[in-house]
Amino acid sequence: MRFSKLRLTGFKSFVDPTDLIITDGLTGVVGPNGCGKSNLLEALRWVMGENRPTAMRGGGMEDVIFAGASSRPAKNFAEVALHIDNSERLAPAGFNDGDSIEIVRRITRDVGSAYKAAGKDVRARDVQMLFADASTGAHSPALVRQGQISELINAKPKSRRRILEEAAGISGLYARRHEAELK
Ligand code: ATP
Ligand code: MG
Repeated sequence: MRFSKLRLTGFKSFVDPTDLIITDGLTGVVGPNGCGKSNLLEALRWVMGENRPTAMRGGGMEDVIFAGASSRPAKNFAEVALHIDNSERLAPAGFNDGDSIEIVRRITRDVGSAYKAAGKDVRARDVQMLFADASTGAHSPALVRQGQISELINAKPKSRRRILEEAAGISGLYARRHEAELK
């Protein structure tokens, strides 16, 4: 699955619609401290269905909405659109009818989140499964947070094991076993 574009509107520090074009090869984002580099990675995680405010460095999910600045009032919603290159038709059925798929997540104050895939309303779970099946997603070990490497180095053996199991894709099996044992 190849991402081709990320568009942020009212998401954290990106108040006006901003496109990040992702071309083949390596994409680097450089800029001074606080310019929004980490916010871009968080937007990617968020549009894939992240629902833990702590993973977004916030206290509540609505903290991703532009909170206002001295020169700009706060926004009422935040939206992130992710364009996926589907020219090889690798997306699962239901998503698979174009060269490019657009996944959109929007959060509105006091309303909550809504998702769209290829223009249709979908559930958070549909979006999460789309990425899980492609071995990516909000919890993917491919997304490495700032400070996560030193956390891994300094972690106690037990929690380091949990991180490695997540990277190896074993944690999903534990979750399924736990579910089966409850039945
Ligand atoms: P560093 O180089 O220090 O890691 P960075 O480029 O990764 O910096 P970010 O952490 O992505 O920077 O951006 C932080 C900025 O985003 C801060 O200026 C913060 O005020 C702003 N910000 C975060 N959430 C919001 C919000 N809801 N509304 C407005 N601005 C926000
Ligand atoms: Mg950062």
